Amino acid sequence: MVHSDKLAALLRLQQLVLDSEDISALFTTLVPQILTEILSTGSDYEFLSVVFVDPSNQLRKSHFAEKEGNRIEPVNASNIFSFEGLFQEKTEWVNVLQGHIAVLPNASLIIKPNYDRLPILHSVTVCPIRFVKRVSGIMILGSSRSPEQVTIDELELLQLISYLIGMAFRLEDTQTSITSTTQQIYKMNAQLHQLDKLKDDFVSVASHELRTPLTAIRSYAWMALNRSDVIITEKMKRYLGRTLISTERLINLVNDMLNISRIESGHVEILPQQFDMRDLIKDIIIEVEAKAKERGILVSMIDTPLPKVFADPEKVRQIVMNLVGNALKFTPPSGAIAISFFTDGKTVDTAIKDSGVGISPDDLVRLFKKFGRLDNSYISSATSGGTGLGLYICKTLIDLLHGRIWARSEGVGKGSSFDFSLPIATPDVLANAEKYTIKLGGNAKVLEPVVV
Ligand code: ADP
Repeated sequence: MVHSDKLAALLRLQQLVLDSEDISALFTTLVPQILTEILSTGSDYEFLSVVFVDPSNQLRKSHFAEKEGNRIEPVNASNIFSFEGLFQEKTEWVNVLQGHIAVLPNASLIIKPNYDRLPILHSVTVCPIRFVKRVSGIMILGSSRSPEQVTIDELELLQLISYLIGMAFRLEDTQTSITSTTQQIYKMNAQLHQLDKLKDDFVSVASHELRTPLTAIRSYAWMALNRSDVIITEKMKRYLGRTLISTERLINLVNDMLNISRIESGHVEILPQQFDMRDLIKDIIIEVEAKAKERGILVSMIDTPLPKVFADPEKVRQIVMNLVGNALKFTPPSGAIAISFFTDGKTVDTAIKDSGVGISPDDLVRLFKKFGRLDNSYISSATSGGTGLGLYICKTLIDLLHGRIWARSEGVGKGSSFDFSLPIATPDVLANAEKYTIKLGGNAKVLEPVVV
């Protein structure tokens, strides 16, 4: 084949690789085309074949074509070759396995004796095809010419073609493994979703099942303590008091777990609207007034002119109830809680500042983590009714509201301030309302309210 023919043939084959829409079938389409291309160039090859083996040298793919007059006939390669020895590094093949073309005078090294063209074959050219740093394929061409008659030009072309086939095989292999990995990921993802749903269902069912008896225990313990006709001893009062607190703590835990499961599984809607933070805070102060009085704590709001925020008021209420509840819990009697605001024109910051037990600088960083309860709580965890989940819920909700939450404290014994910011209902924010909204239709679940 002259140089220009060689170039033209290569370009045609390269184009085939580039034009191939379905890479996963590249090898299957390319190789027969190559065989046709080579055999139809007038070369006097009797047959041409491409064989790939897997890492354990088992036949992986093969194509075989014979020249039959002007026609190219596909043939079953396994009846013709005995190439097993080749990949097992028989001495005759060492060169090929090192990546060199070999032109062999003795076709019977690789061709089975019953192949009817064996007598007319005077040379077999074996071209290695490298794939992932090893020779894992070969191109074999049988010719009636003697090895001396096979030209260097011809061998160069074969070498280039074998690179192309190696590349096509690699592309196809990569595509196949991407497809199978993608399928595995889809499968695993579906399993994870199913497991996640099972977990949600379990938490939800278990929580509901727990809540009914817990509520009954709480009511009876409260009645025994406060409404009983029988005079009870101080010791008994203490026991009942503990039962009440522990039951309340369990109910809070169940509610928090339910809320976390709903938020984390994406079952919570965020329906923002414009509202004035001061109205919401005033409402909450009225709601917690009795509890605050009972504990001897003064709760107040510092009124300043404020722009409206754009957020889901129910979720903000949940957050504030949590923070005010904590402030009440961690502030000793005759302390104070002051709620104030700050705005920079983009957000409204709400600060809930108490004169309570304070927080050490080390603890400030782990407050918003799941079960981030601190050891130096004013009231020990057994009696505080806390779960260590409240602030985590606040943080998760505030993230959904495009806000920020943080805590400040000068240290233990010096009070704390829990602050959060929310976007102001600017024309820009309102124009992008959908960015702040999560609508779920039938899937939505409401959150269990925080009881202070
Ligand atoms: P808990 O249900 O235990 O209150 P939270 O997540 O709401 O869980 O709070 C985690 C911990 O953060 C609390 O146990 C407490 O140690 C600390 N904490 C929260 N709020 C305050 C506060 N106002 N003052 C002091 N410590 C607080």
